[in-house]
Parts: sequence; structure tokens; C-alpha cells
Amino acid sequence: MLDFKEVSFSYDSKNFQLEKVTAHIPKGQVTTILGPNGSGKSTLLKTVAKAHLPTEGAVLLRGEDIATCPMKQFARRVAVVYQQNEAPSDITVEHLVSYGRIPYQERFRGMTCEDEEAVDWALSVTGLEGKRHHPVYALSGGERQRVWIALALAQKTPILLLDEPTTYLDLYYQYDLLDLIQSLNVQYGLTVVMVLHDLNQAFRYSDTVLVMKEGRLVANGPPERALTEERIYDVYGIQMTVRYEEAIGWYTVPLKGR
Ligand code: ADP
Ligand code: MG
Repeated sequence: MLDFKEVSFSYDSKNFQLEKVTAHIPKGQVTTILGPNGSGKSTLLKTVAKAHLPTEGAVLLRGEDIATCPMKQFARRVAVVYQQNEAPSDITVEHLVSYGRIPYQERFRGMTCEDEEAVDWALSVTGLEGKRHHPVYALSGGERQRVWIALALAQKTPILLLDEPTTYLDLYYQYDLLDLIQSLNVQYGLTVVMVLHDLNQAFRYSDTVLVMKEGRLVANGPPERALTEERIYDVYGIQMTVRYEEAIGWYTVPLKGR
């Protein structure tokens, strides 16, 4: 579905370089980008979101370079939830989520039935129907994050990108949100590409992980194959043990006296 072909990127400052990332993102799966702070996770995700274009190489969507895809058309295929989101003050949940329909709207025409259905669906799957008329600023952190996901869902794209969707949420809301993302993947076949920090959450919720280190992709595969003890030490500099237990699945914890 999505392919990185030797994608390189550098900011004007030049002290960071995304270096020739090549990877395939399978359709209908959950792919998680991992790596320490500053390793290039968000930069990589932004190349798929078309927030910046690769300086070399290309991101392909169904074989076509996304650089040549018009923005409106692209927004019907790929939706993104960034890490930091600011809602306009006083806006209601429903109004903000309706922004997801902009890629479908034509000038001088209001919301169509299809637009309204998409907004209703997005509010329903994110459990926000009851908050429809509430102002976004009055919601809890967990609910607010759901609103941004609902906005992305209203775009009705086959691909959803999320940058650290669980940041700032307490444990309950972290797992609540990851369960929601998983159910969207399972029920609607949504292809998910997200950035996570927590290796145990990556183990539980990913089909594939992409591990970044200093702008390079150093591992790519199912979490239990990509996240070995050696790899975790190499990338994060921490000695962790990786285990499997029937009731838990794969998990990792730091060794004592590491
Ligand atoms: P991660 O998401 O893995 O923490 P990022 O992709 O955000 O890392 O950043 C990778 C590197 O690029 C970091 O060194 C960061 O300081 C730098 N960087 C990120 N965004 C910008 C920007 N807009 N301008 C210049 N440098 C940036
Ligand atoms: Mg980041």
C-alpha cells in the first residue's frame, strides 16, 4: 500500500538527516514507528503525510509518488493526527469534526448528506455522540484526543497516521485509545501508521514495527523479531529482557542493575 523508496530528508539546519529509508507498509495492518527522541520518527511520519517532501527518494501510495498527488485528492486517502493540536476557541466537537469533510467539499455548497453521515459515523465510533455539541476546550484530555481522531476519520481515508497519540494521557485513556485504534483497524480494515514511545504498547498493538536510530531505519518486521534484547540495547542503550507469557504476550522490562 505505502512504500518508502530510499527516502532522505534534511531540515535547513542540517544537523539531522533522514537517511535513505526504504520500507513497505502493508495494507490493512498496524505499523508502529519506534526509536529514541530525535531519531526521526515524526520526520518520517511527516514525509507520508506530505507535510514535507523528501529531498531524495519518494513515498509511494499504491505505486504512485505522493509528491505528484494533488492535495485534495491526497487528503481523501491519508489522514493524520499530529502530536500537538490546537482547536479554535469555543468550537464544538461536531464543528471541529466536520473539518474532516473539507477535502470533499466544493465551493459555495454546504454539507451534503454524505458529509453528515461521515461526521455521524466518526462521532459514533469514537464514542463522542453525547459530546457532539460540547465545546472542545471543555473535554478531558482523552476525549479531546478522540475528537482529533474523529476529525481524521471523517475524512474517510483508507490510511490513518498518528504521532504519539497516547502522549499526556493517563494509563486508562492510553489503552482506551489504543483499543479504539485497533478496533478501527480490525473492523474497517484501516491501515494505521503510528509513532509510539512505549515498547510494550508496540508489542501489543503492532503487526509491524519500524525502528529508527539517528535518522536511519535499523529494524523492520513483526515486533517480536525486530525488538530483540540486542536491538533494544543498541538503539536505546538500556539492557532489557524480552519475554513471552501466555497471559500477557510479548513484553519487555529493564534488567536490574542495568
Ligand atoms: P522524533 O520524532 O524521533 O523525536 P523528530 O523527527 O521530531 O524526532 O526530529 C529528528 C531531528 O530533527 C531532531 O534532531 C530535531 O531536533 C530535528 N527537527 C525536527 N523538526 C525540525 C524542524 N522543523 N526544523 C529543524 N530541525 C528539526
Ligand atoms: Mg516525534
